[in-house]
Amino acid sequence: MPHPLLSELAAMLPASSLLTDPEKLAPRLVDARKRLHGQALGMALPASTEQAAQIIARCHAHGVAVVPQAGNTSLVGGATPMSGNALILGCDRLNTIRHVDPLGYTLTAEAGCVLDDLKQAAEAADRLFPLWLGSSGSARLGGLIGSNAGGMQVQRYGNMRELRLGIEAVLPDGQVFRGLHALRKRNAGYDLKQLFIGAEGTLGFVTAATLRLFPAESGHATALVAMESAEQVLDLFAQTKTALGEVLTAYEMINGAALGLMAKHFPSIAQPFETTPAYAVLIALSGADNDTALKERLMESLLATGYYDAVIAQDVDQSKALWGLREHIPAAQNRQGPSIKHDLALPISAIATFIDAAAEALQRELPFAQPVIFGHVGDGNLHYNLGLPAGADLVDQERKANSLLFELVARHGGDISAEHGIGRLRIAAADAGHDPVERALMRQIKAVFDPGSLFNPGVLL
Ligand SMILES: Cc1cc2nc3c(=O)[nH]c(=O)nc-3n(C[C@H](O)[C@H](O)[C@H](O)COP(=O)(O)OP(=O)(O)OC[C@H]3O[C@@H](n4cnc5c(N)ncnc54)[C@H](O)[C@@H]3O)c2cc1C
Repeated sequence: MPHPLLSELAAMLPASSLLTDPEKLAPRLVDARKRLHGQALGMALPASTEQAAQIIARCHAHGVAVVPQAGNTSLVGGATPMSGNALILGCDRLNTIRHVDPLGYTLTAEAGCVLDDLKQAAEAADRLFPLWLGSSGSARLGGLIGSNAGGMQVQRYGNMRELRLGIEAVLPDGQVFRGLHALRKRNAGYDLKQLFIGAEGTLGFVTAATLRLFPAESGHATALVAMESAEQVLDLFAQTKTALGEVLTAYEMINGAALGLMAKHFPSIAQPFETTPAYAVLIALSGADNDTALKERLMESLLATGYYDAVIAQDVDQSKALWGLREHIPAAQNRQGPSIKHDLALPISAIATFIDAAAEALQRELPFAQPVIFGHVGDGNLHYNLGLPAGADLVDQERKANSLLFELVARHGGDISAEHGIGRLRIAAADAGHDPVERALMRQIKAVFDPGSLFNPGVLL
């Protein structure tokens, strides 16, 4: 006997918009890291805001939980339903780019548009949508907003919060919040649309958003620089930021252990240094100048800093290879074996002392764990992962590592989540480490939007 909600939805929706077949549902019940294996009544795929509102109103009437899911690439289990009394609400069919306004530098799109498609639509209008993640081919606008995604170019262009202007969303009772404007300035009291960004699907279902665009870039330059210490990484960052200003688009750090894993598991991606350095830094410039001019600026600024052990990509293929070294690290780590993953936020000036303190503490408490450190260091964001020997008890080691590292992060003025969010996997850490007043206010806000706690229960709060 199907759940009465499913019978009602089956009468409302075309057959292809309601998934209940266990085989089709299966990939939607597992998170990207394969840590969670969930359950749900089924999955609905609305094709319009009105349809989404009708589905959500029916869920509200039946007291069925709603789990918004977009590309399902969340690294904290934010889009995985864990209750048999939940409906997954997918964005796949909300995939229209509604409007591109090159004059106003905006693009309005529905929540199911894939990031790569948004970027292409902007490019077709000679504009740039700069968000760029390792998951750009799968992540969708609804999830990018739900998780306030960051990525490689936050250094220059900001994260999702800084890149969108308006939002349209369906609230947990089925009402539509119509905040889909393209206004850079709107001073009209509480800025409610901000609440949906990074809310991890707990306050409503985003159906569309208006995004900021930028001038298309005419040129690029990429360099990889060998460094002896984390102090040098930060020193070079400060010097290049001062010298290059806004053309500095990305500043990514890779430690020697990560380079070692790349050499082992992706030997076809050439490494330019004779011996593996303690750290390498990937620097990217982009802007209105052409490639040659930007390469010259990059070379001049590196020469002025005194860090000479560097390669500057001479063409697009070389640039892609250097980026490949950075982008394939998570895959290399997966090939190597089990690992504990962290997405830490730190004040930039505290990064080197944090790395030293963490190495010392790990040597004492978890000597077999290998720190594989990489990430958006120019944004104060370290992916601080720990490689474990095959067969290690991941859950037990993770508990120990988290308690040790999160305490150090707090002591250095940082946070346990820079860009991946809290999801299901970081709730205990957020409750333990975040300001209790902040957590209590969030619960009160949640109660205003969703008094029955039907939207993504068990995520974020
Ligand atoms: C290989 C790889 C690389 C990655 N690199 C980065 C990176 O560099 N930077 C970064 O920030 N993240 C990164 N991520 C994490 C992930 O891709 C991002 O969090 C992304 O924004 C999630 O988008 P999604 O469409 O997959 O959303 P989902 O995983 O489907 O959902 C993410 C969250 O948003 C909510 N949500 C989904 N749709 C809606 C909606 N319509 N309305 C309201 N809430 C919604 C979900 O409930 C969930 O809580 C990476 C992930 C992978 C697998």
